[in-house]
Amino acid sequence: MEIACLDLEGVLVPEIWIEFAKVTGIESLKATTRDIPDYDVLMKQRLRILEENNLGLKEIQDVIATLKPLDGAVEFVDWLRERFQVIILSDTFYEFSQPLMRQLGFPTLLCHRLNVDERGRVVGYTLRQRDPKRQSVLALKTLYYRIIAAGDSYNDTTMLGEADQGILFHAPQNVIDQFPQFPAVHTYEDLKKEFIKASNRELSL
Ligand SMILES: [Mg+2]
Repeated sequence: MEIACLDLEGVLVPEIWIEFAKVTGIESLKATTRDIPDYDVLMKQRLRILEENNLGLKEIQDVIATLKPLDGAVEFVDWLRERFQVIILSDTFYEFSQPLMRQLGFPTLLCHRLNVDERGRVVGYTLRQRDPKRQSVLALKTLYYRIIAAGDSYNDTTMLGEADQGILFHAPQNVIDQFPQFPAVHTYEDLKKEFIKASNRELSL
């Protein structure tokens, strides 16, 4: 039995904060962990900017609802779900991902939560657990599933390492260079081929 674990942002949908910054024109929301390595400091800054711009959860979701999955992502997920049980392991928040997950047909998603007050303002966030992607793979392995995982960035590498086979998809060159043990592909067609290769069953395109 095999489960496919997929990262969300950068693999199936665009980077939500970056796209959100573009749509709203709020330049300072484009900061990522590359600019501010401490995730908590970065998130607190983002929440402060949302508050300053009077953006509550409803306004945020309305903006995110205008975003689309990456070209070919919907078809890829459909293809994958016919061949594997699919679980999305993401560092996004359920409240943000909702509009995009709807377009993907709501596959199973494990991610974090935002804390929202009675007035709909985002006042904080709750991380599901430490090293959540790797922990999820570990947990699935205790159920004796083989795990094939794909992701695009540093926050995926412990998940890829824990899986029976990890695959880099749409990864930047520095990540590819640093993790040569994982095959790296850039199109959904090639990603399908890697999943077929990694499977212990006879699958076809
Ligand atoms: Mg990603």
